Amino acid sequence: MNDLFSGPSPVDALRAVLDQLSPKDRAFGESLIASVERARGRASDKQLYWLAELAKRASAPKPERTRTEIGDLAGVMALFDKAREKLKRPVVTLRFDGVGDVRLDVAGTTARVPGSINVSSAGRWGERTWYGRILQDGTFEASPRVHTPEQLADGLKAFACDPAGVASAQGLTTGRCRFCEIELTDERSAAVGYGKTCAANWGLPWGARPSRQPELALTA
Ligand SMILES: [Zn+2]
Repeated sequence: MNDLFSGPSPVDALRAVLDQLSPKDRAFGESLIASVERARGRASDKQLYWLAELAKRASAPKPERTRTEIGDLAGVMALFDKAREKLKRPVVTLRFDGVGDVRLDVAGTTARVPGSINVSSAGRWGERTWYGRILQDGTFEASPRVHTPEQLADGLKAFACDPAGVASAQGLTTGRCRFCEIELTDERSAAVGYGKTCAANWGLPWGARPSRQPELALTA
């Protein structure tokens, strides 16, 4: 059947563009090529259809994804890694000027980019806007489908620089723990900007009484 074509065979045409396919399509394409080759190049109509379809997908224009350098992600990953010892799906909700509440969590093993940090608006599942993901190399890859708020990258950069410090500072200004969003009522929690349970889950210091001015005056 293939020898009717004068150009490259459908198998060769697909093989040339395999690396431009998504991992899933690439795996499918590889097994398709292997089975056609086992049949000495004889492809069924269905196989011919998929050889052409996958080749077409590989050459389709990719949606535009704006990339912004966020910075070294090591601190953020260390914080999430620590929390994952205790929590199945740790989440931080941050508040950025001009953006509002932003939810960060680590993409699971079945996600498109496992181990990247999902960045979305806050709210319940299904009602959130997915802004994009921070890749392990510290690049923010914006969703091609939504407009990314301009100040989002600045907020993410600040968080990457000092994740625990930003979460703590925002807990102080909002009066709510940025890890569980519960109001900070205990004076020790209010002093550090996050609650006791979250401190234990995320490996952060907690429990010091707020320092008092008279003591400072005495030691000065
Ligand atoms: Zn909390």
